[in-house]
Amino acid sequence: MTAGGAARDGTELVVGVDIGNSTTEACLAEIGPSGPRYLGGALAPTSGVKGTAENVPGVVKVVHEALSAAGRSADELTTVLVNEATPVISGLAMETITETIITESTMIGHNPDTPGGAGLGVGTTVAFADLADCRPGEPVVCVVGGGVDFEDAAAGIDAAVARGVEVAGAVVRADDANLIVNRLSTPIPVVDEVTLVEKVPLGMPAAVEVAEPGRTVRTLSNSYGIATLFELTPEQTRMVAPVARALVGNRSAVVVRTPRGDIADRRIPAGTLTLIGEHSTLAVGIDAGADEIMATLRRVAPLSDATGEAGTHVGGMLAAVRDAMTETLADGPVGRPGDQDVRIQDVLAVDTFVPQHVTGALAGEFALENAVALAAMVRTSRGPMEALAEQIRATLGTDVVVGGVEADMAVLGALTTPGTERPVAILDLGGGSTDAALAMPGGDVTSVHLAGAGDLVTKLIDSELGLENRDLAEDIKRHPLAKSESFFHVRLEDGTARFFDEPLPTDAFARVVVLGEEGMRPIPTRHSLERIRQVRRSAKHKVFVVNAVRALERVAPGGNLREIGFVVVLGGSALDFEIPDLIAEAVAGSGIVCGTGNVRGSQGPRNAVATGLVADHAGGAR
Ligand code: ADP
Ligand code: MG
Repeated sequence: MTAGGAARDGTELVVGVDIGNSTTEACLAEIGPSGPRYLGGALAPTSGVKGTAENVPGVVKVVHEALSAAGRSADELTTVLVNEATPVISGLAMETITETIITESTMIGHNPDTPGGAGLGVGTTVAFADLADCRPGEPVVCVVGGGVDFEDAAAGIDAAVARGVEVAGAVVRADDANLIVNRLSTPIPVVDEVTLVEKVPLGMPAAVEVAEPGRTVRTLSNSYGIATLFELTPEQTRMVAPVARALVGNRSAVVVRTPRGDIADRRIPAGTLTLIGEHSTLAVGIDAGADEIMATLRRVAPLSDATGEAGTHVGGMLAAVRDAMTETLADGPVGRPGDQDVRIQDVLAVDTFVPQHVTGALAGEFALENAVALAAMVRTSRGPMEALAEQIRATLGTDVVVGGVEADMAVLGALTTPGTERPVAILDLGGGSTDAALAMPGGDVTSVHLAGAGDLVTKLIDSELGLENRDLAEDIKRHPLAKSESFFHVRLEDGTARFFDEPLPTDAFARVVVLGEEGMRPIPTRHSLERIRQVRRSAKHKVFVVNAVRALERVAPGGNLREIGFVVVLGGSALDFEIPDLIAEAVAGSGIVCGTGNVRGSQGPRNAVATGLVADHAGGAR
């Protein structure tokens, strides 16, 4: 048998390979006179940027895996079919558009599960050493520095109280609150583990609040609560609002009024995005928020390019995407393209928030600052595809056919889903882009590629929860949550309990965990299960519901979703346990039947493009 030709009996062994941004998928089939007989498939992470020679190792891997899974050898293979993999580079940037700076008050927002006492105390801050000098009747908040023993602290406070000094609360350096409170004749609220206790301003009005176990502060997390305590004017109340916001969710808190300077809830100039449409050009400030940016995008559509204001974050981000693409293309046979060739084809803006340390706070408190995340996508028709094909040919020693527009191939693959027929629309939910195509009965296919998909969802989860752990964020995206309630059982997020024979890992106890493939994984944050769930679902909504509607509107005749009857959802993100339902719900109002694909009746939403390549080849061969 010779490579590159059909076997003697007239059958051909071919493999379709779809090189995606994230995943390279293969579909192996034997094509005989009666059409393709599918033998199996394989998938592996894409090596390098899609559509470049870096992809060869990933391609070789999936081809070999598909062959060996089917018990076939490499020299039986006649043809490798590769999709026309247009490089798509998507960039992600996040810009904070508010910043909380506190100068007029000082706050200590405290979580530790160890505050002492309960209630609210208001008084003037006084150092522990000076407590003996306080006059009777004077309400004070005692500040206990390091080096003061808890017994001495309790004795000192009790002595002052006995003299008639009203000690309303205390702030202490060490982890001693309970030890102190337990020794007092009259318990007071005590906040402990304040590392920067020496920075607490003295001689200033202050309030200490400690909530009962299982509760959070009520007064200091409420702007009007603070206003009431310190008799603030409406203007001062407006300025103290960020303090209240930053204290929400804490078990204990301290606010000290320092009557100078001001508190600013500052909006940061985040730069301007200029959207260049085919007919008009409009600029929009990033700080206007996602809705305004997306509305501007609709006004200039179709987009031919976008630029960001130089010297700002958005400028830097769009430049980085463009540079990455220029580099990619420079490696190919076509050489370095001019700037003209590399255009931003789509952007997706999403409102988000990021926990940021509050400037002026004493215990590393953070506030949720508003931010805008931007995904941008560059595509070019001048990909170094031939170089890639040549290297695959050399490495595998087989014929390589590059062909088929990705959208057309995805449609062919999707149509192997039982119960589908043209006209049909597909939604391919990948890592970097959301693609849609509409196939009419005659065979015409309209398609669109939009920025923003699974990777953006992961990034939003990561940053909104302040995890700084992409891998954990990916797990949170993919799996339901649970809370371990005893050493042998967890409560799942839907309320059902699940029991284990072995004790749970100690680091999971009493924590919110994600039930990943490798077992239980604790989420090392203070967020409640409900909160994490809400962040997860809203991230999916903000990216995929918005993009699904945008994409379908672009391919629908006249932009009217009602013209689309059936949608088949494909791609890695279609494996998600929530995303397909969120989309189906969003488009149900337009009379669209929307479901997850089941390629070849067995592959679920995966393998559509690879399968389509084989189906296309078989159709052409017959
Ligand atoms: P591409 O076609 O761009 O190569 P894929 O179709 O492989 O991309 O999709 C990649 C995306 O799918 C990633 O964002 C990944 O997080 C997501 N993904 C893969 N498996 C799952 C899953 N089981 N649940 C949710 N998302 C998933
Ligand atoms: Mg794909």
